[in-house]
Amino acid sequence: MIQDIKPHIYHNEYRPAPPEDRDLVFSFAGQKRQILLSEDENHIPRVENLPKTAREKLRYLFSLDGKNCFLYEDQEKPLTLGGFSYDGIKTLRRDGSDVLGFAGSTAWHLATWYRKNVHCGVCGAVLVPGKKERCLVCPDCGNVVYPTIAPAVIIGITDGDRIVMTRYRGREYKGRALVAGFCEIGEEAEDTVRREAKEETGLSVTNIRYVGSQPWGFDSNLLLGYFCDVTGDRTITRQEDELAACEWVARRDITPDPNLLSLTATMIERFRTGTGEEGRRDGKISQGI
Ligand SMILES: [Zn+2]
Repeated sequence: MIQDIKPHIYHNEYRPAPPEDRDLVFSFAGQKRQILLSEDENHIPRVENLPKTAREKLRYLFSLDGKNCFLYEDQEKPLTLGGFSYDGIKTLRRDGSDVLGFAGSTAWHLATWYRKNVHCGVCGAVLVPGKKERCLVCPDCGNVVYPTIAPAVIIGITDGDRIVMTRYRGREYKGRALVAGFCEIGEEAEDTVRREAKEETGLSVTNIRYVGSQPWGFDSNLLLGYFCDVTGDRTITRQEDELAACEWVARRDITPDPNLLSLTATMIERFRTGTGEEGRRDGKISQGI
């Protein structure tokens, strides 16, 4: 999956440091959901590629293979560099995007949070970065804002040798998917599974098994995967405003997907190959494939 980047090493501890020439820079056009990539090999710029004045607008994000990674702060007027151009962040999802897919989506998650949290929600003052941890602090009223992570569930509803597959309506991603939805306040993740299954398909489910999780920075999510069994009536009633398609698909009719970056694709592949539907036993979900 996208977070499985070994042998690369990712550290998300908050250790701000001055940018050095070999460090990496993520620059996003926030409104357009675009990232700055080199025009030849799709890599991101280094600090040494930037004009000197641009270094003052770099914000520490995390480290990757011992190099610090920075965000170019101004997402409304992002960097322009010779040999680099902006491309949709969905390019980070393509098969074989290796470590850049994870690093880029994580940087995008943080960039989105910073872009949406310029002013204090209590008093309206301009927030400043925390000194010891990754947060934003209001210098006037003391309000502290931490990164926003939206938990959501991915649900594989099964009935013996068939599974419910969907296509989302009105989203950038047009591929096959599973039932999914955000966790609401006051519910356990398993409650979300039961509620979303009912809302999107009309089906009741039982025997809910946790499969694994995935940080999915493209939409600020932490995804939690579950398989479950249908119980009662097997007739699907599709939630039309959320889903363009929703149907039972037989295991033998599922085509293999070479791109297993997402938890959804990984779960579909697990069902197709009959590995891991019983739920998580140990280790990471992706070790089974
Ligand atoms: Zn305030």
